[in-house]
Amino acid sequence: MNKEERIELAELLFPNINENIEYYENKYPKRNLKEGAMVTRYGPSPTGSVHLGNLFSAFCDMIYAKQSGGIFFLRIEDTDQKRAVEGGIENITGVLKGFNILPNEGYSYGGEYGSYKQSERTLIYQTYIKKLIIDGYAYPCFMTEEELSSIREEQELLKTKIGIYGHYAVDRDLSLAEIKEKLKNNEEYVIRLKSPGDANKQVEIIDCIKGKMKFPEHDIDTVLLKKDKTPTYHFAHVIDDHLMHTTHVIRGDEWVSSIPLHIQLFKVLGFEPVKYAHIAPITIKDKETGTIRKLSKRKDPWAGAKFYEEEGIPIDALHLYLATIANTNFEEWYLNNQDKSISDFTFDFTKQAIGGTSFDESKLNNLCKTYFSRKSGEEVYNETLEYAKKYDLEYAKLLEANKEDMIKFLSIEKDGPRPRKDISKYSEVKEEFSYAIDELFIKEAYKKYDGDKKYDTDLIENYLNILNTNCSNEEWFNDVKEFALSNNYAASPKDYKKEPDKYKGHVGDICEAIRVIVTGRTKSPDLYSILKILGKERIKERINLYKEVVLK
Ligand code: GLU
Repeated sequence: MNKEERIELAELLFPNINENIEYYENKYPKRNLKEGAMVTRYGPSPTGSVHLGNLFSAFCDMIYAKQSGGIFFLRIEDTDQKRAVEGGIENITGVLKGFNILPNEGYSYGGEYGSYKQSERTLIYQTYIKKLIIDGYAYPCFMTEEELSSIREEQELLKTKIGIYGHYAVDRDLSLAEIKEKLKNNEEYVIRLKSPGDANKQVEIIDCIKGKMKFPEHDIDTVLLKKDKTPTYHFAHVIDDHLMHTTHVIRGDEWVSSIPLHIQLFKVLGFEPVKYAHIAPITIKDKETGTIRKLSKRKDPWAGAKFYEEEGIPIDALHLYLATIANTNFEEWYLNNQDKSISDFTFDFTKQAIGGTSFDESKLNNLCKTYFSRKSGEEVYNETLEYAKKYDLEYAKLLEANKEDMIKFLSIEKDGPRPRKDISKYSEVKEEFSYAIDELFIKEAYKKYDGDKKYDTDLIENYLNILNTNCSNEEWFNDVKEFALSNNYAASPKDYKKEPDKYKGHVGDICEAIRVIVTGRTKSPDLYSILKILGKERIKERINLYKEVVLK
């Protein structure tokens, strides 16, 4: 076909398209950003609920754009309407908001480069396909499903490359008259790329994460527009990322094999290609088989985004964890820099894991603990209250009623170089600090105590008489030691060990008794701080409770 015929063909196939590509090229001008600013996008398909891998990729989009002074936008890739699920789009926007991964523009955020929903961009794709037809890089293909599957079977049998190329591409060189004839017969068609590639030649790309990669040139006549004249992922990706001026496409490495096709599409369309950063999936060691596999929503609770919210894992702590997956040197940096946060770290694609990163629950837990340890008591209180309002209303009410005390309890051992690391989730606060709220403590009634000792409440009642809640920690402990001695307890475990017959026990035993009676457990944050907050009256009540439920 000569150019005139191709123009006629393009008109025949797309009479509805009146604009030419210049219209869109002008409508979406180059972005006015500083040198080096990255434009990234998160392009989810609304085919299910968001999982950790999706969040991770959106997180990467966000951090690289942010640190370079660029733009991160959200584009809904809903070209595959068959796979779309109800509520899929709301799930995406809701999760992004909930996890504080906030695009600067895009679907539901607005912006100058929309629509940010592919199903609303059909005319744009058709305009560009028209150009490709005119330029001789695309053609209508009328092959039937039966023809296609028999080709596939043959290729599988021969173990050759799968697809429509070479002599399989029978409609590649149809004449205009032949095409007209088929159209007259209402034969269905797709639009295929007329690939100019030669598989004997190589293309080389430099992936920002994986480095230099070489592939044979793409030589398959891939489908660009489906029968319903909507685009395939490949075509929509190239058109959209060109018009939206994406600089870096950060996406899952299941797309690596499509790189030669995408590079070719950029070329035949006359566009400057984007840079690619292909991220490895988050993997996990399967408990049953011991093999490494992708994180699965069906098998692993932490694969789904919702899990983190429900469990009460702080968003910022999850961000810290995602940052450790993003850059291998992040964790060490964070642990060594007490006063710094993620935004102080410079992420670098070359520090990103090339193979799969294994999900590490204990690492996530530790980061959460570090996160909590660096928050003030008041911050932990406020955040826990927010969580409780959503997931445990009863506790939220108790928190509100006991605000002042609760903040004091949550503030114990916060100062100093090694702040306490006890909680890793909001959902743990209730149990971990049950002794802070009388109602909960009474309900718990020493069920948490897992030892078999019965403590001497007379002794502790006597101790209460000498308890001074207005002194330093050191003075307090001296008092306890004195009290110990005057009750035939050694002032230190060492003294006790030396002459065990002389004493009933040692000062530690007395502290243990006090601790169990007032907190219901053998381990707690600094005991004197707890006693001070409770005050004599409540301590007395707890001694009585102990008598009632334990000594009976
Ligand atoms: N819509 C594609 C997906 O959900 C996005 C891939 C990409 O980021 O280009 O897999």
